[in-house]
Amino acid sequence: MKKLSIVVPCYNEKETVSLFYDATSKVVEEMGIDYEIIFVNDGSKDSTLDECLKLYEAHKKIVKVIDFSRNFGKEGGLLAGLEYATGEYLAVMDADLQDPPSFLPEMFKEMEEKGVDIVGTRRVSRKGEPPIRSFFARQFYKLINKFSDVEIVDGARDYRLMTRQVVDAILELKEYHRFSKGIFVWVGFKTIYLEYENVERVAGETSWSFWKLLSYAIEGIIAFTVAPLRIATFSGIFISAFSFLFMLFIIVRAALFGDPVSGWPSMMTIILFLGGIQLVALGIIGEYLSKTYMEVKKRPNYIVRKIYE
Ligand code: UDP
Ligand code: MG
Repeated sequence: MKKLSIVVPCYNEKETVSLFYDATSKVVEEMGIDYEIIFVNDGSKDSTLDECLKLYEAHKKIVKVIDFSRNFGKEGGLLAGLEYATGEYLAVMDADLQDPPSFLPEMFKEMEEKGVDIVGTRRVSRKGEPPIRSFFARQFYKLINKFSDVEIVDGARDYRLMTRQVVDAILELKEYHRFSKGIFVWVGFKTIYLEYENVERVAGETSWSFWKLLSYAIEGIIAFTVAPLRIATFSGIFISAFSFLFMLFIIVRAALFGDPVSGWPSMMTIILFLGGIQLVALGIIGEYLSKTYMEVKKRPNYIVRKIYE
């Protein structure tokens, strides 16, 4: 019988893991396939590990727990789960039940019937989310789709079902800065998306602040396109050309009308403007350089303290 591996990164999810287990196992049991649920405890500061271990003790055949030495972030958790999983099929799910397990049978059906390799999910609404967060999220999708060669559909979740072949392809990407939303798309394969209305988390709190999301978005853009560097180059070319014309204008004006001392405000404006542009360009280069720096260090994405299997 084919096996489904479900990877669940958990950070401070003490209230949700058992709810997750109950809801998910109920659905999967009915599907009549072999399965395992891999909880990755991403250095939680609450009793998430204990909760996972309770499930592990009660359902040893099904539940596996990977315990990290500290918090490495969701990307590290995902990667650990993907590397560890043995199923022919793999699903990635959040612990907070924002990814409804009731979708799994349908995802499976779609995969079998339409012969696709990935069945993803996307939220068509963002109700229950602060409007400002939704706004920036939308802008982010527009930006990354415009400038990178991956097409990430608006509202795409990490919640997806994929075949072993896709998982192996994903694991071929050895980069340190893993932006999974992009990686899942970058590997290609036949993909369809199921749509659903946003579901709020059952318990606990989101661990993503606005700033964490913003830096995640920047990370995504840096990881999947060098367009910002090109923009810096083009604005440099544009400003230089403009400055050259301006210089000609000043020379001609001085030749015709003499050179009275004036123009301090315009000079200051230009200096400040150029200073600003230069800092931005330097910052952009810095972003890429810092990413390169971390890549060449070849540090692992996570460190395992113990695997319960
Ligand atoms: N998560 C994680 N490590 C982190 C932050 C989050 O493993 O450092 C997990 C978290 O436990 C959850 C999933 O990633 O299962 C999504 O996190 P969350 O629900 O906080 O994000 P949101 O749904 O609000 O975007
Ligand atoms: Mg959530």
